[in-house]
Amino acid sequence: MTIFHKIINREIPADIVYEDDLCLAFRDINAQAPTHVLIIPKVQIDSLDGLNSDHKHLMGHLLLKVPEIAKSLGLTDGYRITVNCGEDGGQSVDHLHIHLLGGRKMNWPPG
Ligand code: 5GP
Repeated sequence: MTIFHKIINREIPADIVYEDDLCLAFRDINAQAPTHVLIIPKVQIDSLDGLNSDHKHLMGHLLLKVPEIAKSLGLTDGYRITVNCGEDGGQSVDHLHIHLLGGRKMNWPPG
């Protein structure tokens, strides 16, 4: 169980911006941009490395939600999504999540 599981179960509060039966989106507690939202599946998947072919529909759903959520948050000039995976990828919570960042110009390459 991770902190995100507790957010899904409403055991700890979060600023939720979108929810449906498959996913939840809420503002990151340590925002790295004016808008920083995490989009997570409601089922526990540790990371990208935990995916299998059963997750095709779910992952397609999550990705399709990105532009919809970005639009609802007013990110009309673009945005970036990031999925950190594992130690070298900088993942700190073992529940798969898409970072949606916007509201400022992003740098490249990322750190
Ligand atoms: P990762 O480093 O695994 O890619 O991203 C995890 C993210 O979860 C971090 O950006 C971190 O700020 C965020 N986070 C960790 N704990 C909490 C929490 O309790 N609430 C919210 N809203 N975000 C959290």
